[in-house]
Amino acid sequence: MTQSSTPPASSNVVWHNATVTRARREAQNQHKGAIVWFTGLSGAGKSTLAHAVEEALHQQGCRTFVLDGDNVRHGLCGDLSFSSADRIENIRRVGEVAKLFMEAGVIVLTAFISPFRADRERVRGMVGHGEFVEVYCNSPIEVCETRDVKGLYKKARAGVISDFTGISSPYEAPDNPELTVNTGAATLDNCVADTLEAMRKRGILQRSL
Ligand code: ADP
Repeated sequence: MTQSSTPPASSNVVWHNATVTRARREAQNQHKGAIVWFTGLSGAGKSTLAHAVEEALHQQGCRTFVLDGDNVRHGLCGDLSFSSADRIENIRRVGEVAKLFMEAGVIVLTAFISPFRADRERVRGMVGHGEFVEVYCNSPIEVCETRDVKGLYKKARAGVISDFTGISSPYEAPDNPELTVNTGAATLDNCVADTLEAMRKRGILQRSL
């Protein structure tokens, strides 16, 4: 495990190095630990794609875990609202947790709207080059709103929900993601295949996986 760039609040905290290193875990797993970060509007397909990619990887014997926005907000981030400040803190915590999983040799798939470019870039900056694979789930808001998987767009339009991404809160699309998938029109299978290929290309997965 590598030391965080964030210094601890207490000066009496001493780092302890593990003997079971990340390299040993990865050798055992036969794949790299990594963070595959899905970003996009609500209803764009982040959760669906993250879980479908996880299913494919799991069937190949990979160690995986999905960190999902709504689930995290039940526990770790249950104290946070959707204000800009709390969204930033939400992504900071998720980034730290994802990094721990990655260092345990796991392929972490995160499904968070993560609307602010700076927050995503901060997580990217917390890990090594090539360990953060940003996947932009690009679906037009009209498609997301028609799907309205959780009925949230209807509530946001009615003013029942405030700070709703795409309607009353901004979404900043990635400038230079590792991959853009057209989750508004392409099939799920195609998006899964593109994500796996992006991971192979970066050496996270062996060619055969
Ligand atoms: P999000 O996690 O981004 O809020 P969800 O995954 O909950 O979105 O919902 C996306 C919806 O879009 C699902 O009903 C899913 O079946 C559908 N969908 C259609 N095409 C795709 C695709 N190519 N990738 C992902 N989801 C898709």
